[in-house]
Amino acid sequence: MPKIFITRRIPEAGIQKLQAKGYEVVISPEDRVLRKEEVLEALQGQNYDAVLCLLTDKIDGDILDAAGKQCKIFANLAVGFDNVDLKAAEERRIAITNTPGVLTNTVAEHTFALMLAIAHRVCEADRFTRGGHYEGWAPMLLLGNDLSGKTIGIVGLGRIGSRVAYHAVKGFDAKVIYYDVARNEEFEKEYGAIYKANVEDVLHEADFVSIHVPLLDSTRHLMNAERFRMMKPTAYLVNTSRGPIVDEAALVKALKSGVIRGAALDVFENEPALASGLVECENVILTPHIASATEETRSAMAELAADNIIAALEGQAPPNLVKKK
Ligand code: NAD
Repeated sequence: MPKIFITRRIPEAGIQKLQAKGYEVVISPEDRVLRKEEVLEALQGQNYDAVLCLLTDKIDGDILDAAGKQCKIFANLAVGFDNVDLKAAEERRIAITNTPGVLTNTVAEHTFALMLAIAHRVCEADRFTRGGHYEGWAPMLLLGNDLSGKTIGIVGLGRIGSRVAYHAVKGFDAKVIYYDVARNEEFEKEYGAIYKANVEDVLHEADFVSIHVPLLDSTRHLMNAERFRMMKPTAYLVNTSRGPIVDEAALVKALKSGVIRGAALDVFENEPALASGLVECENVILTPHIASATEETRSAMAELAADNIIAALEGQAPPNLVKKK
């Protein structure tokens, strides 16, 4: 009977799918991120056929070796796979999969939750009201900005970026400009999005800059001090992609000195740590990497990860195989 190791408890739907196949499913008893030594210890000598891992697990050659020669797949419960050494997996002929698509809508929704909340100062206003400072309606109290009709700059018009662009156009009559290494002329025609040949042109013009590129060597610190200065002083930055794409220390300086008006972040450069000074900024909203965290979507992600494992163990190509480019 195939044996599967899951590095932390995930939604039941995924576990049940694996168990329905008659697989033995072992789940780490600790509901926390395992340290590398703990993952090594959990895997060594256990002859697992598959591992279901999370974006918080760093999957390197040592971990892949510990899984053993019979292990066919590490199924990552995330669309991003920057936590996995793809070259090491390829060398060991272990398949790596992710969970794209099923979380697109949810992450796009969370991006809007952040965009609207920062522009309408929702969290600041909540703190103000709870703090007992509300003394009645006032014409100049907590003035924010509209999203409708504004220019939304999308960096990375992939699955999530294009869904955000769709909502911006359809729901908010916004103008969408975007930069991506791959131009999408079909999307431009359908939604009136405007392609910019470089990220700088997006930054100069956008009222909201929303980041949706994967974390790669080419995107690490894509948003740095120089690029914040290219943004309008009235603009907002939203990042629901990966933390290290933004130079967080530079962002704190930009927020404190008024280089940009505000930011909303779901991901952080050194999670779960936050850059010094970030929490003191009133003009920033911080959520703890929950952009895909709805009951519906986390269940769908768990099921998709299970589907990938089942395919690999049944000798088929897993539907969401990721490869080193
Ligand atoms: P995707 O692959 O569909 O889209 C990524 C887009 O970025 C592609 O269009 C690609 O061409 C473009 N791109 C790649 N490198 C680029 C570069 N250097 N400059 C400009 N564009 C570049 O991926 P997706 O499903 O839209 O997900 C995007 C990212 O969102 C994931 O890689 C993941 O890191 C992140 N994510 C975060 C959460 C969260 O919980 N906060 C949830 C899901 C996904």
